[in-house]
Amino acid sequence: MSAKRVTRRKFLGTVVAGGAVATGARPRAQAGAVQGPSSHGPALTASNGPALLGGTPVRRSPFPSWPVADAREERALAELVRSGKWFRGQNVAAFETAYASLTGAKHCLATANGTSALITSLAALGIGPGDEVIVPPYTFIATVNAVLLMHALPVFVDSDVETFQIDARKIERALTDKTRAIVPVHLGGSAADLDVVLDVARRRNVPVIEDACQAHLAEWKGRKVGTLGRTGCFSFQASKNLNSGEGGAILTSDEELVEACYRFHNNSRGRRNTGADFSYRRTGANLRMTEFQAALLVAQMTRLEAQSSTREENAAHLTRLLREIPGIAPARMYEGCTRNAYHLYMFRYDSARFAGLPRAAFLKALAAEGIPASGGYSPLNKEPFLEDAFSSRGFQAIYSKQRLDAWREQNQCPGNDRLCTEAVWLTQTMLLGPRQDMDDIAGAVRKLQTHAPLLAKASTA
Ligand SMILES: *Cc1c(COP(=O)(O)O)cnc(C)c1O
Repeated sequence: MSAKRVTRRKFLGTVVAGGAVATGARPRAQAGAVQGPSSHGPALTASNGPALLGGTPVRRSPFPSWPVADAREERALAELVRSGKWFRGQNVAAFETAYASLTGAKHCLATANGTSALITSLAALGIGPGDEVIVPPYTFIATVNAVLLMHALPVFVDSDVETFQIDARKIERALTDKTRAIVPVHLGGSAADLDVVLDVARRRNVPVIEDACQAHLAEWKGRKVGTLGRTGCFSFQASKNLNSGEGGAILTSDEELVEACYRFHNNSRGRRNTGADFSYRRTGANLRMTEFQAALLVAQMTRLEAQSSTREENAAHLTRLLREIPGIAPARMYEGCTRNAYHLYMFRYDSARFAGLPRAAFLKALAAEGIPASGGYSPLNKEPFLEDAFSSRGFQAIYSKQRLDAWREQNQCPGNDRLCTEAVWLTQTMLLGPRQDMDDIAGAVRKLQTHAPLLAKASTA
């Protein structure tokens, strides 16, 4: 098997294992990436030509694989199996304590996954039918699904093209007397502009639920993201920087709120609701984390800090290199973002600086050089799942035609539309290797720019 195929399979493996499911990366864009010399394009024989046209790829070795695990995970799981204590207990409690202390949060509640953490937060804050919730359009669908499942109306606020985050300055004008929550997403592991978000939230008395599902250990002005809103939600799904296959957590400093979250995620049963106490005051669901997930997480957490530092150092180096390339604009960070978790390394691609080479063709050529990358999200605020939800009997019973038409009217995110055509993503695992890997990535982009006219010609031939 050629190294190229290993690389591609690794990429697809990572993506299919969760990256694509979770972050929406599109394996199809890569499917035709590895090709021999094209019979259409000019057949290059020079070894330094683009790999897509028969040249030598910049890189043949795969990027680091994911997950990383060793005897620590094996021992923890084996002990748990032998103990026979498989229901939410010691391991979940140990994880909650460790994650709270790692993030500086007062309380941590483990959940089945990140989506459950969002649903539980919304439910505990009483958000439901008729309410409006502010969300960004540049996010994984779970952020919005959680809102729709509560039969609340997601209100999209456009993206800041430079940072890929919600344009926080546009939140205030989207607020109405029906707005019951603001859900900023720390997309890619960078931070949304929390100063602006928290300021408008305070002034207008609307709770903030941070979607920090991609932002483990990221910081805003030295404090961990996920600890600044009323709740912060995390995911430990397989593609995420802290991984137990599936998993989630809620952080909060609010004692009453964490109890409300606990009851909701535990089928209405509070911490003291033990044994044969079967009296219930509110509804709930079973969104609990298992002992198996928690055992994995406690072991995985021993590597999180070192992995995060490696990603940060590599990303900083990569940004220095990519900034020098005309037409490549790495995602900017807000000044308050003192630490970026780099779940994704994101930049914008300007095809005009690459002889008009379309992004899809650029991605294909990049993959042929041994650098798997994706074009990221499509415009979520235009996806058909929204109208599908609105046409359901539940939504039809709650929302008038007039209200839904007004929603349609103001559902415009031109910045995000543009972002979705220009974005390029590298996954977090690509930042876990040696610094030389970053030189390869930037080298491949430079190489494609050099040969852009030829590639552009070949892509239209
Ligand atoms: C992964 C993710 C979620 C959902 O987490 P799951 O654990 O997959 O349920 C929510 N929001 C964002 C931004 C995510 O990336």
